[in-house]
Amino acid sequence: MSNNIQYQHGKIIVPDQPIIPFIEGDGIGKDITEPSQRVIDAAVKKAYGTTKKLIWKEVLAGKKAFALTGNYLPDETLEAFKEYLVGIKGPLETPVGEGIRSLNVALRQTLDLYVCLRPIRWFKGVPSPVRFPELVDMHIFRENTEDIYAGIEFMTGDEKAIKFRDFLINEMGVDKIRFPESSSFGVKPVSKEGSERLIRAAIKYAIDRELPSVTIVHKGNIMKFTEGAFKNWGYALAENEFEHQTFTWKKYKQIELDEGPDAAKTALSKAKGMGKVIIKDVITDAFLQESLLHPFEHSVIATLNLNGDYISDQLAAMVGGIGISPGANINYNSGYAIFEATHGTAPNIAGTGKANPGSLILSGAMLLEYLGWHEAAEHVYDAMDHTFSKRKVTSDLYSMMEGATLLSTSNFADEIIRNI
Ligand code: NAD
Repeated sequence: MSNNIQYQHGKIIVPDQPIIPFIEGDGIGKDITEPSQRVIDAAVKKAYGTTKKLIWKEVLAGKKAFALTGNYLPDETLEAFKEYLVGIKGPLETPVGEGIRSLNVALRQTLDLYVCLRPIRWFKGVPSPVRFPELVDMHIFRENTEDIYAGIEFMTGDEKAIKFRDFLINEMGVDKIRFPESSSFGVKPVSKEGSERLIRAAIKYAIDRELPSVTIVHKGNIMKFTEGAFKNWGYALAENEFEHQTFTWKKYKQIELDEGPDAAKTALSKAKGMGKVIIKDVITDAFLQESLLHPFEHSVIATLNLNGDYISDQLAAMVGGIGISPGANINYNSGYAIFEATHGTAPNIAGTGKANPGSLILSGAMLLEYLGWHEAAEHVYDAMDHTFSKRKVTSDLYSMMEGATLLSTSNFADEIIRNI
């Protein structure tokens, strides 16, 4: 069997020794990559002995690529992610200058990685601003390709902005632009197809992992045809494609209307008893409050790009910050997936041994789960738990923890390996 992961009939087929392309990344990327790989390798070895093993294959991007090839994102790197399907990356500096695209955006667009998945869980001992961090266990599905992030913007005064404004006023009959002479404009495309594939992935994830609910987070009260449509398409999709595995709040409200509140409550508790995934929706501003006050009410979160951006950072802060928040960009229709440290290149601490490799290590554990190597992923999670509960941490968490032992990036990884 080849060492390439394949995608067949909607599933990835994983050989025992898959080749995993990795980008080291800029700044602290160099500090965290090798220690993280050692942790992942140790977990795989503990779980499967010599039967299974990841074969790491470095591919170039960022400053290292530029120094060696004169190109920040060589074609070979994109080709490698296509050929091997599943890879991992450290942080990349966004090059400054006209005409240079963000490398992260280029990777996401080229591979059409439409889900940005961020699991948010707490590890024992990690300082948290919330009272019951142990109740936080959320999985964010952020739409990664649409919304205001499409970059369709026109600066006030620019010829295109004037043309666009005149089109709105003269041809579309728009009379609500408060200051038409000095307005800039941004366009927010949200499609049925794009919304459905994101929400479908979130529901499947909840079903596969036996998670209790999917919350559709949206601002549909204000943006009816984009965010509101996202919610409506989500409910329709749940009822059409997952009728037997889900129960929606929309259905609940219909039963309440037709048969009264008691019948609706009975239907809901019956659905819960049958292990159905409850599909609900919350307005974004309310959700930001809700997730702090009642995090246990929310399990999987399906949301649009901009909402997802805000929500990811708030939720990450609830469980220890960006130094330990993992992430992945995935296309479930092709199998392409790139797991990544969610923080940036932290130039202020690069090369000092202060960087926390936790985000990349946990992204590696997510990668193992994606491959179906759950036993190895569990070893990583257990060892992280153990290490944090012994209060052995890197400098970002050290200052917030009483009686903690300060470890360098590499020694922190060694400590996790000892606990595997
Ligand atoms: P940053 O995440 O690099 O740093 C913000 C703060 O968090 C800094 O104080 C830094 O020291 C700290 N920090 C970040 N990661 C840490 C870790 N693992 N351990 C300990 N402390 C950590 O954000 P920034 O300074 O805004 O961005 C720097 C560069 O990174 C920019 O070029 C930006 O475009 C890029 N960036 C890349 C990604 C990515 O590749 N996914 C994400 C965000 C930012």
